[in-house]
Amino acid sequence: MVEVAVPVPVDETFDYALLDGETAEPGVRVLVAHGGRRVVGVVVATKPSTAARARGTLRAVLQVLDQEPVLPLALLEAVLRVARDALCPPGIALAAAIPPGTAARPGTKVTLLPAGLRALERGEVRGMLGKVLWSLGRRARSESEIRARFPAAVAALERLERLGFLSRQPGTDPPRVRPRTERVYRVAQGLDRALAEQSLARAPKQLALLQALGSAPAPARSTPALRALVEAGFVICEERELVRGSPGEPLLPSEAAPELTPHQRVALGEIAAAIDARRDRQFLLYGVTGSGKTEVYQRAAEIALRNGRSVIVLVPEISLTHQVVDRFRARFGDRIAVLHSGLSAGERFDQWRLIREGRVPIAIGARSAIFAPYTDLGLIVIDEEHDGAYKSDEGFRYHAREIARVRAERAGCPLVLGSATPDVGTAWRSAHGELQRLSLPERVASRPMPTVEIVDMASPSARGPKRGMLSRPLRQAIVETLAAGQQTILFLNRRGFAAHVYCFSCGFALRCRHCDISLVYHASEGPRRIDDPLEGELRCHYCGYREDPKSSCPSCKSPEGGMQAFGTERLDEEVAAAFPSARVGRLDRDTSKRKGAQRGILAAFHRGELDILVGTQMVAKGHDIPNVTLVGVVAADLGLHFPDFRAGERTFQLLTQVAGRAGRGLEPGRVVLQTFLPQHYAIALARTHDYPRFYREEVARRRPHGWPPFNEIVHLAFSGKRARAVEHAAVTLTGLAKTCLQDDTGSEGVQVLGPAPAPLTRIRDEFRWQLLLLGPREGVRAVARELVRQAHGPAFAGVTVRVDANPMQML
Ligand code: ADP
Ligand code: ZN
Ligand code: ZN
Repeated sequence: MVEVAVPVPVDETFDYALLDGETAEPGVRVLVAHGGRRVVGVVVATKPSTAARARGTLRAVLQVLDQEPVLPLALLEAVLRVARDALCPPGIALAAAIPPGTAARPGTKVTLLPAGLRALERGEVRGMLGKVLWSLGRRARSESEIRARFPAAVAALERLERLGFLSRQPGTDPPRVRPRTERVYRVAQGLDRALAEQSLARAPKQLALLQALGSAPAPARSTPALRALVEAGFVICEERELVRGSPGEPLLPSEAAPELTPHQRVALGEIAAAIDARRDRQFLLYGVTGSGKTEVYQRAAEIALRNGRSVIVLVPEISLTHQVVDRFRARFGDRIAVLHSGLSAGERFDQWRLIREGRVPIAIGARSAIFAPYTDLGLIVIDEEHDGAYKSDEGFRYHAREIARVRAERAGCPLVLGSATPDVGTAWRSAHGELQRLSLPERVASRPMPTVEIVDMASPSARGPKRGMLSRPLRQAIVETLAAGQQTILFLNRRGFAAHVYCFSCGFALRCRHCDISLVYHASEGPRRIDDPLEGELRCHYCGYREDPKSSCPSCKSPEGGMQAFGTERLDEEVAAAFPSARVGRLDRDTSKRKGAQRGILAAFHRGELDILVGTQMVAKGHDIPNVTLVGVVAADLGLHFPDFRAGERTFQLLTQVAGRAGRGLEPGRVVLQTFLPQHYAIALARTHDYPRFYREEVARRRPHGWPPFNEIVHLAFSGKRARAVEHAAVTLTGLAKTCLQDDTGSEGVQVLGPAPAPLTRIRDEFRWQLLLLGPREGVRAVARELVRQAHGPAFAGVTVRVDANPMQML
């Protein structure tokens, strides 16, 4: 008997019987019947049949789909454990850990019956029916294959079945994604070449071919001459598996590893000791940008490899060419599998198999590379561990760091989390002894940190008379940079939530008086009334508090409230007008929609064909361009008004990252931060690159509200086509949550916040509400489980409920 996790939204596994003589280890996929359908599930445990949970007869596994487990046992167990924590059904979590499209699919087999054959022979069926029947031939075919050829065949198949001309039976279709093979040819071993060539004297084509072929298998075009050589036994033809998606030539010249700095040596020593001793230690490698973290990762990876063990390196998905990936390729060559979102399903599958078969010891990639199926891990590295991209926001809402932690624990290997601006939660756990902190406090080769200048936009002399987006000091800095033949990045952290909430004249922003979270403007439904510019309302999407929009800025009284539109496009125009001879490129969501455009603009900037790059968060990370000596941040405080308790943390991280782009080469870098809030800790401390103090301030701010890391959050999102039904579900389930708290079922200390409309109130015609549970780890989960159970009831038909434990964003 086997216990199977099926990919359906229920928090249970199910038992099935195996046929006599069949076996299926944990991690093997099986086809089973569930809820009136056939689905592909994953075996999570095998049990003696006496332990049957279900009364009555146990249903049988319809088909065992794998000979070998797709997931190693330790990985399977890690996924299940994190799934429990993430409130995700086990089958859905496991499906996320397996490369998509690689399982056989439930399908229907169609077979031509003797009556059908007779009818065909007598010419009794014509038109579409005839075509479909003809296409069947002698052997059984899969229905989806027939439908792919004849899209209109569904009705025809049903009619032909009723006529008794064909039969339809449950079966399986082959996986969509399969290994791809190619034919390769080589001269047969032990062939007497001279003799063979003599015998081909009358066949010059064959002779030439044979002479060209070697004893190493090579692909060749299948010609009659080649087939004749194979027929004669002179040449052997074999199928060879292709590996799709292997990275091309390394972009960087392969260089020798540098001598480590004393700080790097200390950090590496600690990590190396844990690798050698097979200890599951967690390290926070805290080092400013350019302090040599990547070098430490690489050295540690070498040590793991020397011990015969494998390595996973995670990088945030920034763009297809991430410099950490390039540098690993430069050092480790083809011992690397690269997994990123730009791969096709086939490429992903082939890279995955290289790992599964132990053919490459290093897997490097974005979030989902944490599922790399190694059985002998010696090291896991997460670079830029604070990055939000490590949290999945659909299906299995896991954080790669959590999977990494459990895998490292099982494998007995260290986990290294690297960052210049660690996640506040990570720093908290480090302060409480869960992680060991390793510091790289200086840039390599004593390169100076960039100087950061803060421009107070509230000061009239700095802002200038025109009230444009560029202050006088920033303009001056651009002039100087252009004159020196160096490059500038101008960064505008513009996200849609500042409308009607943030004043670009004075920097004032409206916040909730209960939660200290920025309010969000919601336009009213229906057509906009011209006589009422103030339609809509401002809401706190944490607690639901609301107020009316203001006609003028409450602080500076500027009539439009300065709450006008401003974006990269306007910035681009202003820059072009101010510096007519400069070559300016823009990088934002508009330009990156065109495929390849983003890469093209970046590449041009890399080659020095652009003087100024204007852009959104995309310009912030990862690009290491020596000639960039000036980075300007147009509105450093804008991110502080993002409706999230992490707004301060995100702003500090972003400003530090952006500043890190300046002065990567020999020339010292310079950063100009324009802001209305020069004293705000997230901005003032970014100027001095002072993470430790930022961390203390941030924690002190969160404490009174009980935000994480003091508590955990579970976010419940309600969505559906009917606005009323969604609101009703949100309100009713909030009531239920409050009853849960009174009933005291392990939910002490849990707070219910909301319900409130989601900041993005409407997406693709779905209305969205939300509810937050804030409190101790187990408590918030207990309440959330109960609410999800209730939400499946008929009273909430048409409303989808999604749960996210420890959300990174709540939009
Ligand atoms: P980080 O990952 O912390 O931003 P990097 O590893 O990218 O830092 O290092 C910054 C630069 O310094 C890189 O160009 C790298 O090649 C170089 N570097 C790293 N370690 C050393 C070292 N010990 N000696 C000389 N150069 C080094
Ligand atoms: Zn509030
Ligand atoms: Zn104002």
